[in-house]
Amino acid sequence: MVIEITPRNLTSPKAQKSEREMLLPLIGAMISAAVFSYIGLSINSQVNFVRLESIWNAQTSGAPALNAQTSTNSSPTEQFEPSADLPTDPTALGAYLVSGLDAKSPTSLQPASTGAVGAVSAPQYYLAKNRPVAPKVKTISPIVTPSGPELTASCNDCKYFPVNKKWTLSSSYIPANLTAVNLPGGGELTKATLGAMTELFSAANAQGLKPKVNSAYRSFAKQQETFNYWYQGELRKGITPLKAEQNANRYSAKPGHSEHQLGTTADISCANASGFDRTSQCNNAIWAFIKDNAHRYGFVISYPQGKEGITGYVYEPWHIRFVGVELATELHTRGYLGSNGWYLTKFLQEKNLY
Ligand SMILES: [Zn+2]
Repeated sequence: MVIEITPRNLTSPKAQKSEREMLLPLIGAMISAAVFSYIGLSINSQVNFVRLESIWNAQTSGAPALNAQTSTNSSPTEQFEPSADLPTDPTALGAYLVSGLDAKSPTSLQPASTGAVGAVSAPQYYLAKNRPVAPKVKTISPIVTPSGPELTASCNDCKYFPVNKKWTLSSSYIPANLTAVNLPGGGELTKATLGAMTELFSAANAQGLKPKVNSAYRSFAKQQETFNYWYQGELRKGITPLKAEQNANRYSAKPGHSEHQLGTTADISCANASGFDRTSQCNNAIWAFIKDNAHRYGFVISYPQGKEGITGYVYEPWHIRFVGVELATELHTRGYLGSNGWYLTKFLQEKNLY
């Protein structure tokens, strides 16, 4: 549209006023139309995807690289800065994760090919029935976490290696003696871990609990897929890639930084509940049992309550790692589940058994 405006020096003041009176409503109408069309477009999800991609493109051009670690400090007493915009209350955090990231009941699992579209590839055990169609967003692939040579595992058997956000397992590390888990939930664990887990399950079953293995061994590649999945879930909220990465890394490890790659670690939940549902009585009964008894079978809760600032991860009552009865009992005796500075990887660094 072209609007012709008569030059001022060719028109009388009266005529100018008259033109302004005519133009003002027209300009107002144009502004209104622009605002309404923007609102209309904003509620169109397709446009939101375009905006997400624009944010992505803008961020990846100038922002810090997604695969860069924020610190290369190799001090054994790490401090991790919690991300500020996630709930700290465990129940609120659980609701947040479940609502945003499709962690639904394990009874409604379906093959990965059914729910995921576009670039998002979800781990099969996280997919739920009736999962909403995932928006098409760019994937970050591969995610590679660089690490200094002094932090990389050189162990052949890394069962005591203090893997965390800075201490890295090689991408080629695969534990020996991986064995199919013949307990509810399945998966793979090292032979020794499975033996201890079987005893733990027997004791829990004897108390009327029905535990299941929600997730066990994960390869480096599987962990990359897993972290990507949570990362994509965060990204779909419209936050920056860097923020999405930071949020996801509060509850999911990057490849090479997961204890699940050790084959000695599993997430345990109730067979009748969603794996991460912190409101489930059934889950909480099992997690209370684990808290009181895991050490008797050689297991440790890697990320205790109230210690995100030192472990780097939110409280995960379901995530247990096998280190043997002697070590687990010693750490338990030190009161690592209480409000002191003890947690598993700090303890393993002190023991220096890797
Ligand atoms: Zn876990």
